[in-house]
Amino acid sequence: MVATMDWITQHNHSLTLRELLEGGNELIYQCSECGRKTPLDLRELIQRHGAETRVAYITRNTQCPNCA
Ligand SMILES: [Zn+2]
Repeated sequence: MVATMDWITQHNHSLTLRELLEGGNELIYQCSECGRKTPLDLRELIQRHGAETRVAYITRNTQCPNCA
């Protein structure tokens, strides 16, 4: 399944990157400004931030390539 920002907000904002990856999920960042959806590379995020990083942290620190 695909985990969009909406899904994460509604269901479990404390999910970690590891839990998402183990569940076979994709993480897609959706910009609140323009609505553009950007798929994020879970493995790359884990390498950079660590597997126990919460999705909420990632989404707070992700910039939309369209609006940046
Ligand atoms: Zn945007």
